[in-house]
Amino acid sequence: MKIGIDIGGSHISIGVINNNGIIVEKVEKRLTQNEKRNIKKSIEDYIVEYANIFIEKYKVNEIGIAIPGTQIDGVAISTGNLGIKDYNIVERLQNKIKLPIKINNDAKCAAIAENKYGCLKGYDRSIFLTLGTGIGGAAFLDNKLLKAGKRPGYEFGHMVIERNGIPCMCGKKGCFERYASMKVFRDNLRKALNLDETTRSQDLLQIIQTTNENDKNYKIIENVINEYIENLSIGIMNLIEIFEPEIVGIGGSFSYFEEIFLERLQNKINAENSRKSTREKIIIKVAILGNDAGMIGAVCD
Ligand SMILES: [Zn+2]
Repeated sequence: MKIGIDIGGSHISIGVINNNGIIVEKVEKRLTQNEKRNIKKSIEDYIVEYANIFIEKYKVNEIGIAIPGTQIDGVAISTGNLGIKDYNIVERLQNKIKLPIKINNDAKCAAIAENKYGCLKGYDRSIFLTLGTGIGGAAFLDNKLLKAGKRPGYEFGHMVIERNGIPCMCGKKGCFERYASMKVFRDNLRKALNLDETTRSQDLLQIIQTTNENDKNYKIIENVINEYIENLSIGIMNLIEIFEPEIVGIGGSFSYFEEIFLERLQNKINAENSRKSTREKIIIKVAILGNDAGMIGAVCD
């Protein structure tokens, strides 16, 4: 048994995972605004409490943590929207938990889990993208994850798809994630329909599904969706040219809008990518492990 931990911008989940990648027991919590003020302590207290309970109860031999951003030698150098820098989480936890602990990027963990147990299972060459607040990703060749070395690498979200485009948090302009993250889609749709920021994904999905061709908003919604699919497909087609995958898996909150996006994306990519002369289609699938992928992937590589 292993303990997989997934730390996100506002939640932590901790699970006991067996050798078949099945979650045997799991706890999770949302961090309150108060807890976020002392975020390191809040994260560590919760992990130490439940890790030690699970270690008592099960035969656990390892702990893996999925965390956003870049990690080097067990230190989280940056953590994206968690907002912590140079966080030596492994060393801090190691004082209170007597088992080996490792950390890895959350999108990489989700990809590892999907490759072993989910939508990429059975393929040798694949790409996985996590579309959420930003874009994370991973590539597998000969069924092995391509790993970055000591520097950030395989940061698919930060390849430039628009010269002199929208500024990105990384310091460049025109990054893929500034055009094709799910946050960008939601923001663009809200703006186009004059909806405020609190309109949730499920409300947006309902609006899309209930607007028909005679409705004045129909064209506006279609334009936002088409522009999004266009930008998403540019990035994916760049990755296809580089990695020559059999399949592209897509996770994160994209799966929520699967019904709206998937077929359009499949059609667009298969009509335009350079492999079309071979008549071989690129398979595009949506992730199947949902929110548990990061936790499972933290301990199954
Ligand atoms: Zn960037």
